[in-house]
Amino acid sequence: MADQQQQGGVSMEKIVSLCRRRGFVFPSSEIYGGFAATYDFGPLGFLLKKNIEKVWRAWNVESRDDMVEIEGAIFMHPKVWEASGHVGGFSDLLVEDLVTHKRYRADHLIEDAKILENAGALKVEEVDTIIKEHNLKSPDGNPLSPAKRFNLLVKTHLGPVEDEASVVYLKGESCQNIYVDWKPVLETTHRKLPFGIAQIGKAFRNEITVKNFIFRTREFEQMDVQYFCKPDEADQWYEYWKKNRQDFYTQAMGFSPDDIKWRQHDPDERAFYAKDAWDVQYKFGEIGFQEVEGVHHRGNYDLTQHQKFSGTDLSYFDEASGERFLPYIIECSGGFNRLFLASMFEFYREDGDRKILGFPPKLAPYKAAVFPLLRNKEDLVKKAREVYEGLHKKFMVAWDDRGNIGKRYYSQDEIGTPYCITIDFDTLEKGDVTVRDRDTAAQERVKIEDLEAFIAKKLE
Ligand code: ATP
Repeated sequence: MADQQQQGGVSMEKIVSLCRRRGFVFPSSEIYGGFAATYDFGPLGFLLKKNIEKVWRAWNVESRDDMVEIEGAIFMHPKVWEASGHVGGFSDLLVEDLVTHKRYRADHLIEDAKILENAGALKVEEVDTIIKEHNLKSPDGNPLSPAKRFNLLVKTHLGPVEDEASVVYLKGESCQNIYVDWKPVLETTHRKLPFGIAQIGKAFRNEITVKNFIFRTREFEQMDVQYFCKPDEADQWYEYWKKNRQDFYTQAMGFSPDDIKWRQHDPDERAFYAKDAWDVQYKFGEIGFQEVEGVHHRGNYDLTQHQKFSGTDLSYFDEASGERFLPYIIECSGGFNRLFLASMFEFYREDGDRKILGFPPKLAPYKAAVFPLLRNKEDLVKKAREVYEGLHKKFMVAWDDRGNIGKRYYSQDEIGTPYCITIDFDTLEKGDVTVRDRDTAAQERVKIEDLEAFIAKKLE
């Protein structure tokens, strides 16, 4: 986005419209009028999702020898959520418009009214005082109710009887699988500290206000790295992971450093057990810098709680010192939806009426598109199908024979395809094709037998 010309950055509307038009993201149950800020990834969104996950996994897991990855269940023992503090304390402050009865997050209204920059840690009485002193009204201009706490856990029942004993919660944060599986991971992998457990997993929150497309939804995925270390090494690992996250966004994802900002939590904003907490923020075009990931110094709170509530010893035995202790955890918890949306903002640009998603080839849904110069010339189409089918075995490749070549280029630019391959009359004679580069619009002739290596090289 660094080269973005528009004032104030790309508008959310453009991204939402592109996502729907080209099949990146659809409103869920759209034929029923959509449903409560839930979304589906369409064919291109699914491919982008898999590519983002691949980049995340390569950086966080596969290129390291101190990381393992798990995939935990969505349903967990209900006590997990008591131990984690979510049943008692995972709540937002809610206020109600006294006329429309619409509910709002108090901190968001206070922040939107520019009364405070960060209102997330306010207590009920503080919110009530601010509402009174500033005569704060709802977005519809109506008076507001006093604030009350609203628990965000999504509750359901499992089993044949719907009573208190059958209450279960959908995961309020995905990382709880990791804390609970710390013991079996340790037992089965025989790892020594320090090491991490990574996971990409679903989370569910009954968010009061859902807004900004897929930025805040009630069902989303989190991408976690929970790093277990010796207590006296935790500060040093915390610094390491902060730097690592900056590098992940700028090097692995290819985001401009100008679009990444760090925000430290105020002491009264972070959990009482946390030693330090920072948010990584991304500049989402016109809506500005917003959190994409939390990097938290959690001490041994999570393991202490699960040890207490489960009655299972979760300590680690350090052979070198002969000591037994609960490791400290450094948490890097990012939101997949936000990383996906950030990728759309980061690589979107316009050149006249051309819309371009300038994805690096590793992120691009299709690595190349293959066209016959003319769709009604049988020998051109036959040759183009041969090229397409050959490449399709190795990479995600698009086929397009609609409209003229110019239109096809525009269409592929808009979905981020880095290379367009055209089969023309010269191809039939010389066995080479025109490869047009999305970013430079430069064209070069490449031999058909060299195409696979050409694309593979760009993916390195
Ligand atoms: P926020 O302040 O935006 O509500 P949070 O601080 O509660 O987020 P965490 O609990 O730290 O978020 O979760 C880690 C990450 O999960 C966040 O950085 C964000 O990327 C993602 N996330 C959290 N809530 C949502 C949501 N409702 N929709 C999409 N992603 C979310």
